[in-house]
Amino acid sequence: MADPTRPLLELRALRKSYGNAEVQTEILHGIDLRLMPGEFAALIGPSGSGKSTLLNCIGLLEGASSGELLIDGQVTQGLDDAALTALRGRTLGFIFQFHYLLPAFSAQENVYLPVMADQGHATPAMRTRALDLLARVGLADSAQKRPAQLSGGQQQRVAIARALAQHPKLVLADEPTGNLDTRTADEIFALLREVNRSENTTFLIVTHDPRLAARCDRIIRLVDGQIVEDRPNVPQASEPI
Ligand code: ADP
Ligand code: MG
Repeated sequence: MADPTRPLLELRALRKSYGNAEVQTEILHGIDLRLMPGEFAALIGPSGSGKSTLLNCIGLLEGASSGELLIDGQVTQGLDDAALTALRGRTLGFIFQFHYLLPAFSAQENVYLPVMADQGHATPAMRTRALDLLARVGLADSAQKRPAQLSGGQQQRVAIARALAQHPKLVLADEPTGNLDTRTADEIFALLREVNRSENTTFLIVTHDPRLAARCDRIIRLVDGQIVEDRPNVPQASEPI
């Protein structure tokens, strides 16, 4: 059980620049942020404000230029690639706007292959967990289908199951419904919320959709690489779906 009093995520004066030795462009200008276990937070802001860059830094996919980033109490600066990969596998799940499923593999394989890649071998337990997760996201009957045989919403459900495969403490979702129609987006969002409520999984969700942000417990707004607003939100009752 995660310590409920310890931040799951902590950023202190995090800066991120892109460029080379001569020209550097700073994208994130000193981000301070904490997420506690079980939070369901929206990250909003205009296009180009740095939301994906911030998520990629938090996800240890990109190194920050300066500042501190702690995940589950662990300082991430100075870790080598193997340690970063291990920390990522132990704590983080990712959902992207485009699901990046492997077209030649079944839904079930898409859920456990990344776990296998991380751990070096496939176990029966991984395959079973993949089936359980597919059932959890409403795809019990589609485990053997390939992505092309599934709708866009179903494909994103597979991606959610994949993100949950290693029991992440924190799921980072970058516009997870950005490619879906309104009704499907609502269903996917409801599914994320349900995972959050039932397993206390923490979510940080980038969304463009104010309707969806309004269903989160906290709204963090990024403008030009700075957090300009960070407030609790009382979620509006979601319409039945
Ligand atoms: P958002 O997700 O909020 O739309 P991004 O984080 O994708 O914003 O981008 C923020 C800024 O960082 C943009 O100006 C973008 O052009 C720049 N940027 C993002 N990735 C790179 C990169 N790999 N190299 C250089 N600039 C980048
Ligand atoms: Mg983005």
